[in-house]
Order: sequence, then structure tokens, then C-alpha cells
Amino acid sequence: MDSVTLSSILFVSSTLLSILVFYGIRRREVQGVFYFSILMGVMIIHSVGYACELLSNSLAQMYLCIKIEYIGASFYPFLIVLFAREYTDERRFANKYLLNLLLIINTITLILVYTNEYHGFYYSSVGLDFSPGFPILALKKGIWYIVQVACLFFSILYSVIIFSIKLKSTRGNYRRKVAFMLIGVLIPLVTLMVYMTGYGPVYIDLTPFSYFIMSLFIIVGLLRYDILLLAPITHEMVFHSIEEAVLVVDQDEMLVNFNTASKNLFPSLEKIKIGQSVHLIQELRNYDFTSKQKIYEMNGMILSFHVVLVRNNSIYVVSDITESEKVKQQLETLAREDSLTGLYNRRHFMERLELSDGSGTFIIFDLDHFKAINDTFGHVEGDLVLIWFARKLKECFQNQVACRYGGEEFAVYAEDMDVQEAYCKAELLRETLQADQERAVKVTFSAGITDFVKGHIPDTLINADLKLYEAKERGRNQTCY
Ligand code: GH3
Ligand code: MG
Ligand code: MG
Repeated sequence: MDSVTLSSILFVSSTLLSILVFYGIRRREVQGVFYFSILMGVMIIHSVGYACELLSNSLAQMYLCIKIEYIGASFYPFLIVLFAREYTDERRFANKYLLNLLLIINTITLILVYTNEYHGFYYSSVGLDFSPGFPILALKKGIWYIVQVACLFFSILYSVIIFSIKLKSTRGNYRRKVAFMLIGVLIPLVTLMVYMTGYGPVYIDLTPFSYFIMSLFIIVGLLRYDILLLAPITHEMVFHSIEEAVLVVDQDEMLVNFNTASKNLFPSLEKIKIGQSVHLIQELRNYDFTSKQKIYEMNGMILSFHVVLVRNNSIYVVSDITESEKVKQQLETLAREDSLTGLYNRRHFMERLELSDGSGTFIIFDLDHFKAINDTFGHVEGDLVLIWFARKLKECFQNQVACRYGGEEFAVYAEDMDVQEAYCKAELLRETLQADQERAVKVTFSAGITDFVKGHIPDTLINADLKLYEAKERGRNQTCY
């Protein structure tokens, strides 16, 4: 092949790479794409520089081209690591120290190429060779040249490893896209190995030609998978950034995927790999995956499981609802209970009456001369009397529904008592109150009892009230039925 053909290939390759740069700029919001564009830009500089070098006739012209090429080629190792790291979002190996080191080595390379005539560290000798049939630079490797090539080799190897790791942890359609990227970085690795093992042509640099194959390959990938080629990482990122734990489980109850949040909620996932049984998750050992339980309690936490079926996979979206459940319970308690006495409030009591099957007894209690207690001992003491009475009432009517009916009025729905039994209980309560020696403030009550008739709740209430009124009329501190 003559120098014109070779350089034409490189110009075509640069045009293809330019398309990729243009594509990358348009899609720069996608993770890693900014570095992808810079990497392609660097390859263009390298390719164009090399094409010009091949077309040059004098040593001086050729070395000038080399200087242009190295503006791009020097930073290739640094950029490929940066791109692979950002694209895969895998930062474990390439930390900022390693990146800085690469940048320093690459910058030294550029400086040494520009000043080589003074020291020969990069090329120990620079001459011309005519063996391919056209003039070409015959360069002998200097010390730093070996450093730079080793650096390049390890950088490409790093990206191959990183994409392989990503390939393992990615599933489905996205997997193919990562696979495309992996093959994309394997091409320059193979070329470099051919060059390093000495199987390639002596003075021709194959790297720019590998860009040609690589750019063709990536463009085919782009066309085939449309612009979504770079989207798997966006999906991966969304998956990993959501606050809820997400577990994807297949029909054999094997883990297909899980996100970062799930590792925080279920620490045992740290040791579990994709493809292993979901039952290995220690924290979920009591969870019933078959019935897809909706609420699950774990170490004092309340978890809500929302399960979505996608093809043969079940996606479990797990959220920690401990706090909201606590608030819900508090609200339910507030809606049900009287805050002073802890008995049911009237609203809840009425609901219970409506739900009852219709038998039993209804009793209404009213404390006697309570206003006088307030007036004599104060409101606070009055409250304490109400609390005390409520406690005694609850103790006496243990299995019945007791409520604070109004200010100093209380009611009991005794489902399994007839009027006579209810009367005895009320009188027992009266004795208990009288026998309580601890209280300085004594209080008595009047009560009215009536049969509870389902469907006639208003009549029941009126009847009980009438009986209570009768008890008051008769001189208080008594029960009428
Ligand atoms: P009677 O024997 O006729 O029932 O007389 P009474 O004084 O108990 O009846 P009245 O209905 O005149 O007064 C009820 C009193 O109960 C008036 C009100 O201040 C008091 N009361 C109502 N709710 C509360 C409360 O939450 N705390 C206190 N300390 N007093 C209350
Ligand atoms: Mg009253
Ligand atoms: Mg009263």
C-alpha cells in the first residue's frame, strides 16, 4: 500500500471520528459522553497528524507532524481511563491519584517529544527509511517511549477490565450495549499487542488505523441501537440513585439485579452476587416471596413491598415506612381516643355501636355536682377526678366498650350483659369509688341503663338519658333502669 492510500484511510477515519465527536457533543448530558468526545477528538489529532506524516517527504516536515500527533496521542492513556471510569461509573480502581499520575506521565511525554533533539529520551534516534516504497520516519525507541507505551497498554487493559466488570453486572438489552463498548476498546488493545510483540510492520504505527476500525464499529453500534447506545448508564444511574431498595428477582427466585439502596437496607447483599438465590438475603429470611407480602417487619423497621411483574421477573420496590406508620398509628389513636382519659371518644364509640350485632346493654354515667368540684378544688383537680373515674370505670367494665361521652359523662356498651348484670356492675363501681380512701376529692355518679336495640340507636340513647335524668331526680348517687 502506498502512502496516499494509507493517509486516505486515516482521513476517512478522522471524518468518522468527527461524526462521533459531533454525536457526543449533542448527547453530552449522558454520563461519560463528554470524555468520549474528547477521546475521539484526540484520536482525530493523532490520525490527521499521522496522515500528514505519511505524505511528507523531509525529515523536518515529518517530525513537525509527530509534534502535532502527540498533542493528541500523549493524552490517550489518561483519557481512555477517564472515559471508561465515567462511562461505567466505576471509580474503585482509577482514583484521583492514578489519574494525576497518568496526566503527569502524558504531559512529560509531550514535553519530551517537543524537546527530543536535545536529549533523545523519547526517540534515541530519528532517521528516514525507504523500505515501504515511500519515505517514512525510522524511529528508535528511547526510555520514555517505553514508559508511554506501557502506560497506554495498562490504560487500555484497565478499560477492558472495567467494561468486562460492567458487562457482568448488567443485564438484558443494556448488556449488548456495554459489550459493544468492550469490543470497541479491545481493538486498540489487540493492535498495540501486535505492535509490541513485533508482528506488525516495522516503522508504521498501527494505532491510528485501529481508530478507523474502532470508529466504524462504534458507528455501526450507534446505528443499530440508535442513540440509546450510551443510555444504559443513564438507566443504571437512575436505578442506583433511587431511594427505595429495588430487587429484581426471576421466576426461580434468583437475584437478577439490585440497586445501591437495597444494600443499605439489607447489608447481607454486600456478600451476595447477581445470579444467587434471593433467600440468601439474611434480613429477608422471614419474608414470603411466594405470596409477595406487602408489609414486612425487620429489626424494628416496617417495610412496604411494592411488587411489579415484568415478563418473568418480579421487581420488589421496598421502602422504609417505619416513620410514616408511626405517625399513622398516632393519628389513628388520636382519632379514636379521648386525650384526657385514654378511653374511646364518642365518635369511635358510636361507630362501635353501629357495628354491633344488636344485643347487650347501654349505660350512661354522669358525675354528680361536678361543677361544684371544679369550683371548689379547681379545674386541674377536676381533670384528675375525670382521669381517676375513667380508670375505675375501665377496670370495672373490663371487656366492654367504654367511652368518655361528654364533659363529665361516660358511657359503656356492655355487649354480653343484660340490664340486671349491668346494674350490678354499676353498683360495684359505686362501692369501689366510695372505698377508694386515697382520694381527697370524693365523687359520686348517677347512671341510666337501657337495653341496646340495633337499628334504634337514637331511641336507646334517649331511653338511657331518661333513666339518668330519673336517677338525678331521685337524689343522685344511684342507678336507674
Ligand atoms: P349534675 O349533678 O346535675 O350533673 O351537676 P354537674 O355540676 O355535674 O353538671 P353540669 O352539667 O352543670 O356541669 C358539668 C361540669 O363539668 C361543668 C364543666 O365545667 C365540667 N367539665 C366538663 N368537662 C370538663 C373537663 O374536661 N375538665 C373539668 N375539670 N371539668 C369539666
Ligand atoms: Mg352532665
Ligand atoms: Mg354532672
